[in-house]
Amino acid sequence: MDNREKIKIIIQKLEKLYPEAKTALKFQTPFQLLVATILSAQTTDDRVNKVTETLFKRMSTPQDFVKASIEDIMHEIKSVNFYKNKAKNIKKTAEMIVKNYNGNVPNKMEELVKLPGVARKTANILLSEAYGINEGIAVDTHVKRLAQRLALSKNNDPEKIEKDLMEITPKERWRDLSNLLILHGRRICQARNPKHNECVLFDICPSNQY
Ligand code: SF4
Repeated sequence: MDNREKIKIIIQKLEKLYPEAKTALKFQTPFQLLVATILSAQTTDDRVNKVTETLFKRMSTPQDFVKASIEDIMHEIKSVNFYKNKAKNIKKTAEMIVKNYNGNVPNKMEELVKLPGVARKTANILLSEAYGINEGIAVDTHVKRLAQRLALSKNNDPEKIEKDLMEITPKERWRDLSNLLILHGRRICQARNPKHNECVLFDICPSNQY
């Protein structure tokens, strides 16, 4: 079976299991999703949702973050990892969005990756979840691990893995693939002790040994 065939089966099987697959981050606007995604690096989505529930009541728009002091932002987000750097990046990003984009989050990859704290993964999540644009495939730690275990990529660098996945996946499924692999990575194919014997991909996975 070639990888194009394999990816179709993977999506089919995982979609049955996770019909609700979409980002777990809670947001109302593209800017809120951008903030939540910046906060989510090295932090669980549950933790981020707890923080943003309070944060967005006080600061919700780019203008709110421009007006707020760094100390105030740090205080609001102090329970996430690397909160000092993240506070600085969110504030600078808000300033750039107000100054260069009239307060609107841009919807182009090349513009998004210029924002502080926004790399390709964050931009992919933002584009697909907030704007419905499939520009690439968000490769986080789960997508990376599953792509390797399922032998969909031999690479280790997330951007190279993204390219490998983009080559074998129909464009309209890029967002779904990322969300499905993330959910499967969290629930079944965990980094330690993956539950091979409960896995719907067992038959097509070359890493299914115990
Ligand atoms: S069979 Fe095991 S290694 Fe392969 S995807 Fe399933 S849980 Fe992961």
